[in-house]
Amino acid sequence: MTLRAIKQIALGNILVADDDDMLRLLISSVLIDVGYTVLTAADGAEALELFAEHNIDCVITDVVMPKMNGFELTAAIRIMPGGERVQILFMTGSDDYDSIQRAYEAGANDFSAKRINPLLLVERVRFLFKAQQIQDSLRLSEQRLSYAQRLAQLGHWERTLGGDTVAVSPIVCALLEVSDGIDLTWNSLCEKIHPDDLEMVQHELQHAIAQHTVYRFEHRFVGRNNVVRVLRHQGEVVPTDVPGEWVVRSTMQDVTERRAQEDRIHFLAFHDPLTSLPNRELALRALDSAITDHSREYQHIAIFAVGLDDFSRINSSLGQAAGDTVLKTIGDRLRTQVRDSDHVLRTGELRELNNGCLVARTEGDRFLCVVTNLQLSEAAISIAKRLQRSISAPLPVTDTELTLSSTIGVSLYPHDGLNATELIDHAFAALLHAKRQKGSCQFFATEISERARHRLTMETELRHALDQHQFEMFYQPRLRLADNRVYGAEALVRWRHPVRGLVNPADFIPLMEDMGMITALGNQVIDMAVKQATQWAQLDPEEFRVSFNISPLQFISSDVVAEVDAALKRVGGLHKYLEVEITESTLLSQPEMVSATLQAFRERGIRVALDDFGTGFSSLSYLRKLPLDVLKIDQSFVADIGVSHNGTTLVDAMLFIAQALGLDCVAEGVELETQLSFLTLQKCKEVQGYLIARPMPASEFMKWRQKWNTENNGAKSA
Ligand code: C2E
Ligand code: MG
Ligand code: MG
Repeated sequence: MTLRAIKQIALGNILVADDDDMLRLLISSVLIDVGYTVLTAADGAEALELFAEHNIDCVITDVVMPKMNGFELTAAIRIMPGGERVQILFMTGSDDYDSIQRAYEAGANDFSAKRINPLLLVERVRFLFKAQQIQDSLRLSEQRLSYAQRLAQLGHWERTLGGDTVAVSPIVCALLEVSDGIDLTWNSLCEKIHPDDLEMVQHELQHAIAQHTVYRFEHRFVGRNNVVRVLRHQGEVVPTDVPGEWVVRSTMQDVTERRAQEDRIHFLAFHDPLTSLPNRELALRALDSAITDHSREYQHIAIFAVGLDDFSRINSSLGQAAGDTVLKTIGDRLRTQVRDSDHVLRTGELRELNNGCLVARTEGDRFLCVVTNLQLSEAAISIAKRLQRSISAPLPVTDTELTLSSTIGVSLYPHDGLNATELIDHAFAALLHAKRQKGSCQFFATEISERARHRLTMETELRHALDQHQFEMFYQPRLRLADNRVYGAEALVRWRHPVRGLVNPADFIPLMEDMGMITALGNQVIDMAVKQATQWAQLDPEEFRVSFNISPLQFISSDVVAEVDAALKRVGGLHKYLEVEITESTLLSQPEMVSATLQAFRERGIRVALDDFGTGFSSLSYLRKLPLDVLKIDQSFVADIGVSHNGTTLVDAMLFIAQALGLDCVAEGVELETQLSFLTLQKCKEVQGYLIARPMPASEFMKWRQKWNTENNGAKSA
């Protein structure tokens, strides 16, 4: 045994087995010269040993050798580890056809004549190495492919058109639960398909075969223990190398889990997770499809928007879990009601339009019921009543029993709209309208939609107005009757609408309160009023106060004292130039908190006025306890002065109350000289009204005040 590795370029390791010393030497020296590493053996047994010990890429072997001939050597190598990929070249006599035949049978890759020109031998070997590389990379890519297929559980099958057998990969066998290596027939494959899916599968395949095109379908497969799985096939119909022959080639994959996930995602996109009822989106689609399907024999579709009354109270008093139970129960009850419908109903394409009816939960405590089959629109009334009755049945939650009421808005197709969006919007607009009277039912009317549209436009515009600072303050003088001079002004907000011009607060404040935007507006008002008061105080440090109004909602829900402090800090102003006006309704909601806030204002030197006095219901004993400075008599009472005896007496009484409580009194809405004379006579401290001046922009106010104070200087004295 000789190992000769003279050159280390190492193109590869070659084992040369030949009992002819000269030939062995010749072959190895030629191969070493071009860069191979060569091991030599004088007989087959030695060659086999060398093969086992070394990493051999190519074997060149003689046929006849002592101990073990070339055929035996080849056969032995092929079953050794690494033996299947090694290239084996036989050296035979050039006319020894029998040996050539046997060599191939034993597993040789090539043969060569013994007396070959050494240079040609080198080329042969190079060719063998090249072939080995190609084989290796092919094997590698096959391995990768099969690994990837195993990971993806991707099987494949193939069927020549016209033939019956189907060639299948091991993964297909595993997926179809048949033993590997079994020949499947087309019929046996079809038997594996769920009977309900078979027609679809055959249709898809026939179409692909007829069109010579690609296809994709999924079908169910009922496996062991009746476990149903979903298999996806994706393939093509293509020609083979044989003219006129076509083959169906397909992949097959188990997509059961993916399908389950997709179904879940689909479900969540169209259902309310709490009640499992359809959501608004699905209701829209189902209603649209019902409208498309609508036949003339059924005249009406009714859409009921159902709102639970005072539902938020359940959540806040019994907890969210109880609230959830209530919503689920109500959902079930509504479903029972519309399903029990005694009309003959058409089934829409969507499963959710059960018997032509649908119950959806659109948000919070809002449900939507669609009934598609009404002969008479009047039937909607009895259905609405039935829905309300089912909701009001006693409902056990935790250890108590609730009785709920509900309000319903109804729209009818085709009368109230021609598409689902319009109809659903109109049902909800009717509900909003009906909510003014809890427990009622209201049918949609055009005015409701116009009002709803107007409100929607206003809402959008008001949001924009806040961002764009379209609000500004007007100031109305407050006249002190003792010396007929102006020592104060009430700041009143105006909206400078880009198209409509100045808009009065009555047209937007209630809406902003409803929309939860009042605090944002209130903060802008505080900012503007504080800034203006500070500017005026700097011009004229004489005592002069600016009063501003605070909405009850803002008063309760935010820290107004901190807001005023911050606004003053920003402009370096003083509390003593300010007065806040609150209404009686503010006092009623959270008395202790309100009282503490008012106290905080007073401690800072801000005066507190009770606006619109007389319009609320606060008792005198309650007023007495509150930290107030001023009572503002509402203009409705002032308007009655001199008109009726009662009216005059009422104002008199209010002035008396103010005096008794030690509060300053301001009369609002003074328009007439008679009113002014009466109030002066009765020692009202201040008046405010069109008779003196209308609210005006800040830029005009000081000029006006100077003029007034000059003209009326000393006109009346204390
Ligand atoms: P209020 O606080 O009682 O304001 C007095 C209202 O009476 C003002 O109406 C004023 O312009 C009006 N007025 C004054 N003198 C006369 C008169 O002689 N005759 C008549 N008919 N009316 C007179 P305005 O500015 O339209 O404000 C209405 C209400 O809107 C205010 O009543 C107040 O409650 C609210 N408001 C005004 N500005 C604001 C604000 O900045 N914030 C808040 N939250 N509410 C405000
Ligand atoms: Mg006011
Ligand atoms: Mg008022």
